[in-house]
Amino acid sequence: MNTMNESCIFCALPANDVIAKNDLAIAVRDKFPVTHSHSLIIPTRHVINYFDCSAAEREAIHHLLVQCRFEILCVDASVTGFNVGTNVGKTAG
Ligand SMILES: [Zn+2]
Repeated sequence: MNTMNESCIFCALPANDVIAKNDLAIAVRDKFPVTHSHSLIIPTRHVINYFDCSAAEREAIHHLLVQCRFEILCVDASVTGFNVGTNVGKTAG
């Protein structure tokens, strides 16, 4: 099983960029944020897209998603909504 891909920008993220992590996933702020606190939650194992994630990885991603939402709300009470999405395939960005 491939755990890292040297040509993958997500596999090469600097450790200092990580704002939260668990056993199977990390969270970082997006380098090109669409909105304030725009964050990315990425499995630590290299995968092609969300649908390649294992059930455990999906659960780990979900836990970080909930954690990041909570932390954003704690820092900025003016936040009233969230978008959660994934891009699958080049035509989807
Ligand atoms: Zn990767």
